[in-house]
Amino acid sequence: MDKNELSKKVRQQTDVNVIECYQCGKCTAGCPVADKMDIRPSVVMRMLQSGDAASEDELLRSLSIWLCLTCETCYSRCPMELDIPKVMDYLRQRSLAEGKVHKDARDIVAFHKSFLNSIESNGRLHEMGLVIDYKLHSGNLLQDVTTAPGMFSRGKLHILPEQIKDKKGLKRLFKNQDKNKKS
Ligand code: SF4
Ligand code: SF4
Repeated sequence: MDKNELSKKVRQQTDVNVIECYQCGKCTAGCPVADKMDIRPSVVMRMLQSGDAASEDELLRSLSIWLCLTCETCYSRCPMELDIPKVMDYLRQRSLAEGKVHKDARDIVAFHKSFLNSIESNGRLHEMGLVIDYKLHSGNLLQDVTTAPGMFSRGKLHILPEQIKDKKGLKRLFKNQDKNKKS
């Protein structure tokens, strides 16, 4: 990777200019999962600023990008209004595209894919389909299986998905997203 290549792509795809980060640390201080992360949010920004190929590779292989909850606490606290959740999302896409996903993020990636599959098929989340797809991808076939009957009886799980009307618009949205991932 050329110097600063990843930060340039982050700028193009998310409109976040990482150079504007002045390392105040407020994002890390407010992040609810910072203590579980291998690279904390302010350090993610610092590593992107460095433009160093090894740091950029380390970021794409990190667990942090998969632990981010997209809660936006960092964004709301940042004095420069830098949208870190958007940056994290882009880094996840790159990590997937380059086959650099951290080994401990396997279940998170399986969930991420199942969630998107459900939205792509129906235009909205179908919980039952999500659970089945996730179990098939993750191999965690029996995880939480005892909670299913209770959820059925309370009407929280539906056998058939609800569909949106504008399926063509949905297709277009995912097609554009695929194009962005490749760029
Ligand atoms: S809060 Fe904003 S300016 Fe401060 S370290 Fe985080 S990203 Fe940088
Ligand atoms: S959006 Fe991600 S990085 Fe930002 S505070 Fe939430 S979990 Fe932390």
